[in-house]
Amino acid sequence: MKPNTLIMNAGRQDEWTHGIVNPPVFRASTCLFDSYADLLAGLKSPDDTLFYGRRGTPTHWALREAINELEGGAGTWLYPSGLAALAGSIMSCVQAGDHILVTDSAYEPTRALCNGLLKGYGVETSYYDPTIGAEIADLFKDNTRLIITESPGSLTLEVQDLPAIADVAHAHDALVLLDNTWATPLHLDALKLGVDISVHAATKYIVGHSDVMLGTATANDRAWNRLRSASIQMGHTVSPDDAWLALRGLRTLPVRLRQHDKNGMQIAKWLDDRPEVDRVLHPALPSHPGHDLFKRDFKGACGLFSFTLKSGSYDTIGAFVDDMKYFKLGFSWGGYESLILPINPSFARSATRWSSSGPLLRLHVGLEDPDDLIADLEAAFKRYSTHM
Ligand SMILES: *Cc1c(COP(=O)(O)O)cnc(C)c1O
Repeated sequence: MKPNTLIMNAGRQDEWTHGIVNPPVFRASTCLFDSYADLLAGLKSPDDTLFYGRRGTPTHWALREAINELEGGAGTWLYPSGLAALAGSIMSCVQAGDHILVTDSAYEPTRALCNGLLKGYGVETSYYDPTIGAEIADLFKDNTRLIITESPGSLTLEVQDLPAIADVAHAHDALVLLDNTWATPLHLDALKLGVDISVHAATKYIVGHSDVMLGTATANDRAWNRLRSASIQMGHTVSPDDAWLALRGLRTLPVRLRQHDKNGMQIAKWLDDRPEVDRVLHPALPSHPGHDLFKRDFKGACGLFSFTLKSGSYDTIGAFVDDMKYFKLGFSWGGYESLILPINPSFARSATRWSSSGPLLRLHVGLEDPDDLIADLEAAFKRYSTHM
């Protein structure tokens, strides 16, 4: 099956859909057994039979299997948010006395978990330069058990050499976790590149309409048993309505992603030619420092990237972002609509120093007509130039 055919068919089993196209929303806590013998049989496979609501229903199985097929994993679990998927995955890999290596470009709440709860549990974290590649070997300690990667970084867009990092990790008997949200399951074959656990904030492109919080984690044979066991112990489960919406979003992911990618590239190139712009941080641009790795490993981009201004400061950036018509001010991304976020990456750096002459703005380019989006940005540049 080619990728588009796979995504239309993944997770669709007749016994779950009962002759309609999509599985119904199975709302359940209690599941009823016909006999004590049936109850005992259910105990043997509580995650793939109707056993208890928290362990899943056909709505959940369909989504779990669909993501797992796309990622090529040994198993997939669902979580109530992308951050919960990261936390559940990380906590399945470490115990007191372990050491983890985290990319300096990581999503800030990942860093907060490592510096907060995990530190309190006796797990030590060091941060590394996202562009380190095989030299990450120099940072290994006897107790290093996990490397956390995020490629490209979701604020500053550094591309990581995942196969090189995975080779070092596996030589040291450590695992590699990737926050794969940017690429979605379609644009990066994480497990084939050596990643052991691939995490998605399905909240973003998989759901695709800015109306559900959901996370997924897919593991290979090396990591699946511990991921499954830890996630069950922590009670991770999601609402069947949310699983159903994610499954619905997934079916149109290829067409949406292609358009986000195309619109994003058009705007990235337009920004690259603006005299006010210092750098456009988009890995599909040949000028991006990670472009060669991007071309080697990724099948495409999405609508999320950043740019920096040559001058100005965050104090006056309101003049740029206030009163925009289509680029709305807000967190998250991956919905159909465009978003803009001024943010100084320095607040979440420790191993590397972020420097830029002017403020950084992150864009999520939505499915609007790019000409309207460009006019919106043009007006913002004009407003900003009179307020600097
Ligand atoms: C949004 C995001 C998350 C967290 O997802 P939530 O569903 O908001 O918890 C994790 N990683 C990245 C890269 C994200 O952009």
